[in-house]
Amino acid sequence: MKLARSADDEAFRKRLAEFLEEHCPPEARLSNDFIASSEAGDDGVVSIPCWARKWQACLFDHGWMVPGYPPELGGCNATPSQTLVYFEEMTGRGIPRSLHFVGYAIAGPSLLEFGSDEQRRLAPAAIRGDTIWCAGMSEPGAGSDLASLSTRAERQGDEYVVNGQKVWTSYAMLASKCLCYVRTDPDAPRHEGISALIIDMDTPGLEVRPLRDISGHAEFAEVFFTDVRVPAANLLGELNRGWQITIGALAHERSGLWVEGVAICQRSIDDIVAMARRRGLDDDPVIRRRVAELYARVRGLRALGYKGFASFAQGGSAPEHSLMKVATSELQQELVELALDLQGASLAVTDPGRSEEGGRWQRSFIKVLAATIGGGTSEVQRNVIAQRVLGLPRGS
Ligand SMILES: Cc1cc2nc3c(=O)[nH]c(=O)nc-3n(C[C@H](O)[C@H](O)[C@H](O)COP(=O)(O)OP(=O)(O)OC[C@H]3O[C@@H](n4cnc5c(N)ncnc54)[C@H](O)[C@@H]3O)c2cc1C
Repeated sequence: MKLARSADDEAFRKRLAEFLEEHCPPEARLSNDFIASSEAGDDGVVSIPCWARKWQACLFDHGWMVPGYPPELGGCNATPSQTLVYFEEMTGRGIPRSLHFVGYAIAGPSLLEFGSDEQRRLAPAAIRGDTIWCAGMSEPGAGSDLASLSTRAERQGDEYVVNGQKVWTSYAMLASKCLCYVRTDPDAPRHEGISALIIDMDTPGLEVRPLRDISGHAEFAEVFFTDVRVPAANLLGELNRGWQITIGALAHERSGLWVEGVAICQRSIDDIVAMARRRGLDDDPVIRRRVAELYARVRGLRALGYKGFASFAQGGSAPEHSLMKVATSELQQELVELALDLQGASLAVTDPGRSEEGGRWQRSFIKVLAATIGGGTSEVQRNVIAQRVLGLPRGS
């Protein structure tokens, strides 16, 4: 496989590098692997630091937030291959675009694709990060099997009345709007009775209860709806056609994520090699074999991602990309385990001033557990690959 960039793409890369040199704040340059850079209060509830909000707005204003979009939506009309260059540069340098992905990656694209004129006008603020959005999909009885969601919305005059509960709703305690999936026709087949509503988080009857994860931080929440009245004009897309929007929303979430996944793995393996040298383990045959095996998998995934991209850029499908989420998230977990093994007994040192890289790998170990759950679990992704990529029959 030959990877070569056109002169235009290289000029694009140079423009981006110059922009980053001039504008990227130091806090964004420090971001690495799985450690969320958001801040948490004494109660564990996270907040978006001021630098991150300014940085997202700065990217938008200079056309670097979603490069494929036109300038009024925070982009610069970049081609698909320039967009790939963009992801390579940003993720290779470990620079995040935003600390709350729902607005630019899920709500914005869904509003633009399915919204009325008025709803589309909400998109720029969602992408710029001026409005924080959350996505109300999962429920206590509907996670992997999203189509079994039961939060109910009944039409009464010019309003929908919503009752039910969502769970694992990222950033619900900070959000001012929710893209919420509700059941509007309980008698229709499961996929056909779902609609998407835009719900203001300060509507009476809506209650947010933060949920702490094992790191002690609360990045997601339970959201309860008790007779929450939502204007009928807040229906996004057609009534009972919300399933199409959920599919689009998840696709938006995944697009480009493979580059990020591979870049995280690449940075991890580079840092692991440096740590092995530092700790005098680089001549240990067992460690050398483990490092080499994981390195080969990182390089293999990079090649697979580019192969898929080449077929996508030529108008074809890219089944390779279905594999990337499972493969990179599981590889991230194995890399962190190796980094912890290299530390031996000193792994138990919890004082950030004395532990390896300030305790970065210990924190990563906790964070990376979520990588094989959020956005679709590994088991469910494997089912999707089996059925849609390999054409195998549905399991019973
Ligand atoms: C960090 C993080 C952020 C999240 N943010 C959001 C958010 O903003 N909004 C939102 O709506 N949701 C969010 N989620 C929820 C996430 O989408 C769900 O956790 C995920 O879809 C799995 O659903 P579940 O937790 O109900 O597990 P379940 O679906 O109950 O699955 C439990 C176990 O059974 C396995 N399983 C289920 N079905 C099958 C099957 N058919 N075949 C084989 N195995 C199966 C699963 O793989 C899993 O191991 C977030 C999750 C995480 C970890």
